[in-house]
Amino acid sequence: MSARVIDCVAIANEIKEEIKKEVEALKGKGIIPGIATLLVGDNFGARMYRGQVEKFCGEVGFNYVNANPAADATEADVMGIVKELNEDEKVSGILPLRPFPEQISDTVVINSIDVNKDIDCFHPYNMGKLALGETTFPPATPAACIEILEREGVDFTGAEIVVVGHSNIVGKPAMLLALNRNATTTNVHIFTAQAGNSDKHTTGADILIVGAGVPNLIKKHQVKAGAIVVDVGINRVKVLDEKGEPVLNDKGKPKTKTVGDVAFDEVCEVASAITPVPGGVGAVTNMMLMKNALKACKIQHRID
Ligand code: NAD
Repeated sequence: MSARVIDCVAIANEIKEEIKKEVEALKGKGIIPGIATLLVGDNFGARMYRGQVEKFCGEVGFNYVNANPAADATEADVMGIVKELNEDEKVSGILPLRPFPEQISDTVVINSIDVNKDIDCFHPYNMGKLALGETTFPPATPAACIEILEREGVDFTGAEIVVVGHSNIVGKPAMLLALNRNATTTNVHIFTAQAGNSDKHTTGADILIVGAGVPNLIKKHQVKAGAIVVDVGINRVKVLDEKGEPVLNDKGKPKTKTVGDVAFDEVCEVASAITPVPGGVGAVTNMMLMKNALKACKIQHRID
């Protein structure tokens, strides 16, 4: 079997067009959705993500606000900024970009964000609603996994879904989103692996969602024939030659590439469909965030 590679970029573009249409309709009512990112200092990864969010806001026609206090800002300073963003009608959604400097508590900042502007579902109130199966802002990355599967025509009812990874931003909410769709869900995590029990679960999966942050963790023998595999992992690894030696670039430094958590080539031999890395879940994740901001805007303006 050779798995079909799911075109996640096409799915992301489809969602983007749907959002743009809705934004146009809102503009006709004098309403423009907007996202504010909150970056304290200039952490490299967070800065890169900030730039992407700004770019996507531009592409779908959202307002964008860059809240970026200096790295030595106090918690009180940051709380003051969150309060302003909570009250700012131009801001539909607030996205805290972590890590914060050590003097700023993640929990304190997140708990102070208006629950109707919490577009990546960080607030315990929204995570609680997710657990209860109530309408909320589903966290962008696991929501992207579900969206991809739904657009692939997957019926979740009774499906055996195994999620690898149990973080608060990927694994746990992916489990809840699948469970809320009446799938039979199993969670495999580091302690399952340490107990030597991962394979007996992963090999039973009709759908395998993997978000562990371990390059090439999932191998062919761990995947059921015909399974659909969604690879959330984003890992930078060295490019190796046939002898296993690092390939060097023009500057004499090791070349690197991005890979997922699934050993793509060998798993393609058994799976029926698979998401690629790069150009997979990540592309759709960005659009899910935009979708949540649009939803927040409509809630704030009491539009169905
Ligand atoms: P994390 O480090 O917070 O959590 C990793 C999880 O993997 C843990 O729950 C751990 O129990 C589990 N794990 C680790 N080793 C394991 C093993 N050997 N077997 C089974 N489970 C194991 O990471 P995270 O923030 O959840 O991110 C996971 C991956 O997803 C990373 O590669 C990250 O870069 C990627 N990610 C992608 C997107 C996207 O949009 N595509 C968004 C967020 C994170």
